[in-house]
Amino acid sequence: PDDPPALYVEHVDVTYGRAVSALRDVSLTVPHGRVVALLGANGAGKSTLLRAVSGTLRLHRGAITAGRVRYGGTVLDGRDPVAAVRAGVVQVPEGRRVFAGLTVDENLRSGGLGLGRRGPAQTAEARDRVFTLFPRLAERSRQAAGLLSGGEQQMLAIGRALMAAPRLLLLDEPSLGLAPLMVDRIAEVVREIHAQGTAVLLVEQNAGMALSLADHAHVLETGEVRLSGPASDLAGTDAVRRLYLGEE
Ligand code: ATP
Repeated sequence: PDDPPALYVEHVDVTYGRAVSALRDVSLTVPHGRVVALLGANGAGKSTLLRAVSGTLRLHRGAITAGRVRYGGTVLDGRDPVAAVRAGVVQVPEGRRVFAGLTVDENLRSGGLGLGRRGPAQTAEARDRVFTLFPRLAERSRQAAGLLSGGEQQMLAIGRALMAAPRLLLLDEPSLGLAPLMVDRIAEVVREIHAQGTAVLLVEQNAGMALSLADHAHVLETGEVRLSGPASDLAGTDAVRRLYLGEE
């Protein structure tokens, strides 16, 4: 066990159903308090890796068939999302899934569930922190989440995850489908979360944004890690520039 803890993904294989191999021999580490980016084309296995860490793979009929996932001294493979949340690891799913019919406030309160007994004071404190980060959510706390803009819903999805006070936040394509200004805002938020000492494993198709935020990055290709290195080094490699930064 290490303190402060880091995430270790060690030689992980993931299969969906009986036949679909989605990850093969994937290893990576997210040190305490760092931002690590995971890049790759559609279907490369990025979301699968986040699910393998957050315990949500089974909800998608997937399973870890080899390897180990641990956060510090806690083994996470074969466990459920509650175990991950209790260990301090929380995922923000792709597609900003919020409860459209519930208010912003109700959505936020759902984010602390599964943590056992948490008093109203702790919940209020967590919510105050979210509102400081996202003043817009404070203004709209009594509105139905379904009435928020796409960017605001993404903020709510992140805010809900932060209610569990994670030490490692797993972010799946937070910029997807958002206008450039909102993408900048999300990038600022990731910086702020990082500045507060929370580690982030960031899946992004927006490689420019991800590499500007990350310390370290990995490129997944058809279920395998193809490239790894400091984000500034990867941004300079020809393959990444061509494939993910849209340069010739
Ligand atoms: P995207 O950005 O499109 O989500 P990704 O890199 O996150 O891509 P994954 O969603 O992890 O990729 O998918 C990896 C592989 O696993 C793909 O071949 C995909 O078709 C397959 N896959 C993902 N989810 C399932 C599922 N529930 N059942 C079967 N196969 C799946």
